[in-house]
Amino acid sequence: RFTSQLVPLAAEDPLYEVLAACQSDTSKVKIDLGIGAYKDDNGKPWVLPAVSKAEAILRQRLDYNHEYLPISGLKSFTEAASELLLGKDHPSIQQKRLLSIQSVSGTGALYLGALFLATLTPLAKRVANISFPSWSNHSAIFRTAGWSISEYPYLRPCSQEFDLQGTLAAIEASPPDAVFVLHACAHNPTGVDPTPDQWKEIAQALKRKNQLPFFDCAYQGFATGDFDRDAFAIRHFAEQGLEFFVAQSSAKNFGLYGQRVGCLHYIPSSLLSKKESWVTLARVKSQLSSLQRSIISNPPRYGSHIVSLVLNDPELMKEWKNNVLTMSERIGKVRKTLQSEFENRGTPGTWSYITKQVGMFIMLDVRADQVLKLREEYHIYISPNGRVSLGGLNTHNIDHFVRAADRVLK
Ligand code: PLP
Repeated sequence: RFTSQLVPLAAEDPLYEVLAACQSDTSKVKIDLGIGAYKDDNGKPWVLPAVSKAEAILRQRLDYNHEYLPISGLKSFTEAASELLLGKDHPSIQQKRLLSIQSVSGTGALYLGALFLATLTPLAKRVANISFPSWSNHSAIFRTAGWSISEYPYLRPCSQEFDLQGTLAAIEASPPDAVFVLHACAHNPTGVDPTPDQWKEIAQALKRKNQLPFFDCAYQGFATGDFDRDAFAIRHFAEQGLEFFVAQSSAKNFGLYGQRVGCLHYIPSSLLSKKESWVTLARVKSQLSSLQRSIISNPPRYGSHIVSLVLNDPELMKEWKNNVLTMSERIGKVRKTLQSEFENRGTPGTWSYITKQVGMFIMLDVRADQVLKLREEYHIYISPNGRVSLGGLNTHNIDHFVRAADRVLK
């Protein structure tokens, strides 16, 4: 049935290609700066102490088992996840004007939401607006769910500044009901977030055009170390009464990458009456559950119990927030060292942006041949677009990275 003529070779994901190349490199000085996964100062994956404690509690619980979860997931997890996002006292939480369904991490939440929206949007109108640049999987996920992709400019030309005017112009030029995918904080790959005032303008513009924001919240806590500040945009949109979706991932801020813990939230417009919003929520939930059933039946159990234990225990929650601060502060130190080392060496470029930006990544202004040179001559693996995952740098390897980047860029 299948022949090589009928089945074209799919393009390899650029980040997983980088990972595979790095894994097969036997050099002792190699550095993996591809995938956005945090490592400790010894370059090792970090199991967060709060997560270890929750795992120990889970192992001792006699009532823990491996039965299926409900289709919409573990309630104690999804409720706590929504409180983390919006804050416990938020009117949407208090009045139960939102719905939350557990997903296969952030990717699964984006896909489930995109698929649901596709079922209600005629093909000709299915245009998802994604920032340029963005996490490379955004366009792949929306395409797979049946959307065509339009890109809005994210950085002002030749600068490391957020392009507010470009974003507003894209909103203005898009038809009503268009979907806008927004990074809630710690934009991947640029590390540049809109300021609170800029978010306010974006919210107003989207509201005026009746467009649908779809937040991707993969790094809450990583941008500023403060969970409330990192949720500013989402909370502001809710306060302004906008209708929107949020794909929330627990991969990065719990270090639970492979456990695939996440949640899809839907907040209806505040223009709906209380009764109408409840009916709408019930219907949206029924549709999401029906899609979920046909894709994965029900979400994974183990990781959601860990996150639920942490978020529902004040002591563990406190410890976890400190763990996240440890990660964001270590990355902050890496940023400072990089900037001062590049400046001291006179490496071509302006480096002050490194400490102005937030989150896990910086973008180097490098050509494809320079990315290759870093790899072949120095065993340093970064994304083909120049994105550097800072979680892979530490006090032991940063000298090697700076020297290599300096030589390649000179
Ligand atoms: N969104 C962004 C911006 C990301 O960088 C990532 C992971 O790198 C994700 C979503 C999804 O991550 P996961 O599916 O592991 O939760």
